[in-house]
Amino acid sequence: MSAELVTNGDDALVAATVTLLGPPGSGKGTQATRLRDRHGFEALSTGDLLREARDAGTDLGRRAAPYMDRGELVPDELISAAIEDAIGSLGVRPIVLDGFPRTVSQARAFDRALGSRGLDSAILIDVPDEEVVRRILDRHQGRSDDTEETARERLRVYHRDTEPLAAYYDERGLLRRVDGTRDADAVEDDVRAALR
Ligand code: ADP
Repeated sequence: MSAELVTNGDDALVAATVTLLGPPGSGKGTQATRLRDRHGFEALSTGDLLREARDAGTDLGRRAAPYMDRGELVPDELISAAIEDAIGSLGVRPIVLDGFPRTVSQARAFDRALGSRGLDSAILIDVPDEEVVRRILDRHQGRSDDTEETARERLRVYHRDTEPLAAYYDERGLLRRVDGTRDADAVEDDVRAALR
């Protein structure tokens, strides 16, 4: 996948494959949507993909549902197959990933799939734990994993399995951190700055 220039008026962002990292409720979905709607990215959310699979009653959805309801990660082999299909069906535009990779082993597999170049940028949206729990309970979208108990479990899993990715990408010079406690417009400005 080669880098592309995405031009939006006075604003030029250069990126091919970007991942958004951050705890549940940090606003990854909001920022991924903004990159899609305002900056020409394709957005791919593994959480949405799994929820759609579940609603459609596919084999993937049925196998993933019990893990999602417990706030656990879906096993890597289910995710890898799904992400390969999804990426294969995308066009040539730059891609923003929301919720993937979620573990170092997913990141390694993804780097192998992308070839030596791997990801272009990993943006960590930083939000402290107590704010995360408050937001998840506030937003309460009726998702079956939006209970306090599951929210805390997802946060625990985030710290254990996903946070090590920050070091993984930092070692590769790809990590950028943004303050996720500010409003969505301010975070969007920082995300754009990080991609410039
Ligand atoms: P949040 O960011 O609020 O935790 P997501 O919508 O990203 O929510 O994910 C919801 C659930 O979907 C996760 O708790 C997990 O069970 C599953 N999931 C999403 N992405 C992955 C992934 N890359 N690997 C394993 N499980 C995943």
